[in-house]
Amino acid sequence: MTARLSLGRWLPFGARLLPLVTRRLLRAGRRARVFRLRPAVLMYHRIALERVDPWGLAVSPARFDEQVQWLSKHRTILPLAEFARLQQEERLPARAVAITFDDGYACNAKTAAPILEAHEVPATFFVTTGPVTTGQEFWWDELQRIVLDSSVERIQLTMEPESVLINLGERSNSMGWRPSSAPSGPRQQAYMKLWHAVRALEPRAQAAALTELRAQAGTPSTPRESHRPMTLEELRALTGSDVVDLGCHTTTHPSLPMQPEPVQRAEIADSREAWVKIIGQLPATFAYPFGDYDFSVVDLVRKAGFEAACTTDQRAVTRNCDVLALPRLQVMDWSANEFARQLRVL
Ligand SMILES: [Zn+2]
Repeated sequence: MTARLSLGRWLPFGARLLPLVTRRLLRAGRRARVFRLRPAVLMYHRIALERVDPWGLAVSPARFDEQVQWLSKHRTILPLAEFARLQQEERLPARAVAITFDDGYACNAKTAAPILEAHEVPATFFVTTGPVTTGQEFWWDELQRIVLDSSVERIQLTMEPESVLINLGERSNSMGWRPSSAPSGPRQQAYMKLWHAVRALEPRAQAAALTELRAQAGTPSTPRESHRPMTLEELRALTGSDVVDLGCHTTTHPSLPMQPEPVQRAEIADSREAWVKIIGQLPATFAYPFGDYDFSVVDLVRKAGFEAACTTDQRAVTRNCDVLALPRLQVMDWSANEFARQLRVL
């Protein structure tokens, strides 16, 4: 009787409830499809507090620590070589992430490595060996120092066959400005113009251009402690780390597809061999400078013997991704919540 009464009472309600439950299940299904876990390779550059950071390369030490803690709790952090091997064997877990650092900034050794070691989290540092040897700042940082951070009002740059005079105007505030947005003034406009011009030059001409610009701005050639590349001693010390693995990022950081084939070969294969002299090891992984690559560059990376290579394509790693063209997510100075959101929507 109770059951019959219950049935009489609940059936109509159940019939009204059914479309609501169905709608909710469908919505949850859609959300699960949009936010499903997918493997990702993460790209960092600097762990530092930075006032003017147009490319968003700096993550503060506190935020990096927060992000590593979040990853340790919610994701499976793998060394990049293992991540690539599992990808090749089609056994990569959906929760898998690999942490990478590009360029070889000193803060990677001084600040990032101790945080990674404290949390026992593996990461790969892709190092450009030229600046490590010369001790000079990376040209894009020095260009930023000269154009965005100095008081020089006009600069002249010799780019054969002509000389270009650029008016910068008064020093202006570049905080918060990003190259992806419109230039906020003549300095930002000049910075982008010079960035593209210097990027296209071969390494010796790049160094000459920076010397010319530095002399006009009156900025010293000594690198800033905050922006310097790591020293050979710091690089060698990392070979004893339990968590840091070293990868190749060429000798001079050129855009490889813009270079003739002999230069591509020297920057990829020869620079890998040069690592034996520097640290006594052959790196297994590679990152394309500026994320620039094409079919022939990938082929040279494969023939040089690298097991994995990273681009800067902002995507998750999917089943058909080539391990020699792994996409990455550039991590910004995000809180753990924002970091989690960025990974969900990747
Ligand atoms: Zn780089």
